[in-house]
Amino acid sequence: MHLIDTHCHLDFPVFDGDREARLVAWRQLGVGEYIIPAVGEENWDRVMGLAGRHAGIAYGLGIHPWYVGAQTEGVLARLHALLATEPRGLVAIGECGLDLRSQVPQVGQIESFEAQIRLAMEFDLPLIVHSVRANDTVAKILRRFKPARGGVIHAFGGSLQQAEVFWRLGFRLGIGGVISYERANKTREAVREMPLEALLLETDAPDMPLQGQQGEPNTPASLLTIIQELAQLRQQPLADVASVLRESTLQAFPRLNMAINT
Ligand SMILES: [Zn+2]
Repeated sequence: MHLIDTHCHLDFPVFDGDREARLVAWRQLGVGEYIIPAVGEENWDRVMGLAGRHAGIAYGLGIHPWYVGAQTEGVLARLHALLATEPRGLVAIGECGLDLRSQVPQVGQIESFEAQIRLAMEFDLPLIVHSVRANDTVAKILRRFKPARGGVIHAFGGSLQQAEVFWRLGFRLGIGGVISYERANKTREAVREMPLEALLLETDAPDMPLQGQQGEPNTPASLLTIIQELAQLRQQPLADVASVLRESTLQAFPRLNMAINT
């Protein structure tokens, strides 16, 4: 299998000690390609640097809702200027969105999210959206802007009805460790019922550990468990699931193929 981890924070310091060796090991397991979302101005250089040093790594640029308040003035103008240089390996805007569980004031989160949607539209890029306890508000905002390239609702957790709303708006659903939790009934049902091509695989490593591995940093190796769980949940052959999802990932991120093959 040649799996793409569509959401992995490979630049985080937890991987600093042995990143090179582990990238090789994960590749041998079948996970050799990645999209690294940025979280704020402080890691834009890091994600771009990683993509420059390693084959198979693409990235997004953006501001995560948790870090909206920590950015310095003019950050959106600097993001705009950076996007205008068409950096190599860039495939998306994000991650951005809304987290109504966090302490960051909602007004600021919404402003930043909307500004990043405008950037995605201006630069014709898909969005990597973080939506926690905010699916209905996020859907309302996306419906208002209708970004043509759509994108992904990363680490989707929600009902079948919410999943269908996002899919109709042109957004796929990022499927990760959540489906390994028995108690995530609603999300598991949505994942079972949605068209396979509406789903994308992701680990969100080092976050979002699988059931039974809480407390340890998650790694891209979890992608193998996630795809097995998904195939079982949907009663579809693993190889079919892998090939449909790969194709669908390349469609969701039109610049990905070039980014991971140069
Ligand atoms: Zn993330």
